[in-house]
Amino acid sequence: MKTIGILGGMSAASTQIYYQTLCDLTRQRLGGLHSPELLIRSLDFAVIEALQAGGGWEVAGRVLNREAIALEQGGADFLILATNTMHKLAEQMMTGVSIPLLHIADATARAIQSEGLKFPGLMATSFTMQQHFYTDRLIAGGLAPILPNARDQETTHRIIYDELCKGIVTNDSREIYISIAQRLHDSGADCLILGCTEVGMLLNTSNVPCPLFDTTQIHCELALELALN
Ligand code: GLU
Repeated sequence: MKTIGILGGMSAASTQIYYQTLCDLTRQRLGGLHSPELLIRSLDFAVIEALQAGGGWEVAGRVLNREAIALEQGGADFLILATNTMHKLAEQMMTGVSIPLLHIADATARAIQSEGLKFPGLMATSFTMQQHFYTDRLIAGGLAPILPNARDQETTHRIIYDELCKGIVTNDSREIYISIAQRLHDSGADCLILGCTEVGMLLNTSNVPCPLFDTTQIHCELALELALN
């Protein structure tokens, strides 16, 4: 089995989901006492969030690059970056790194394509929804993403940072997310991308009105596939 290098902590709440999901998938797949071979580097998200909010992307990119190199040196066979937003810096992160990165947007685009769907609603941080580093990859993958309206984008972003990244899950926010998902569906989305690795804390296949693609789940499934092949 190959060793999966996880660059996480962005946030810690979702890195816990990655760990749990990878362990569950490995047990389902291999049975017995099997568990995945992992190297997890979990960063202090307060530092990363301050860099995001202050526009310190270049510095954040250097941090990711330093940690990616450390994961390679530590024995990782390939990397996953356990956040959609920080894929904005994927190129800088991988400078001088010779092991591959499994890009979360490409994996998601392929999963949607394989179901014959084309118009995914995207719920994510403002960075992921409004800047082009993510939607361009979806478009390159043959999709036509649909964004929430401006107010719903702001609400989606706020709940991610104020609640989900702190491990806070409330019924009120779940209801708000369900209505945002419904509005995306009403405006033509034929499926929904949980484009932030914490959104699965509120939404799942049973509470959205269309097929759902949880980037955390897709990322973990692909990583395990690669680790076992
Ligand atoms: N985990 C989130 C994502 O998937 C948001 C936190 C971050 O900004 O990294 O985008």
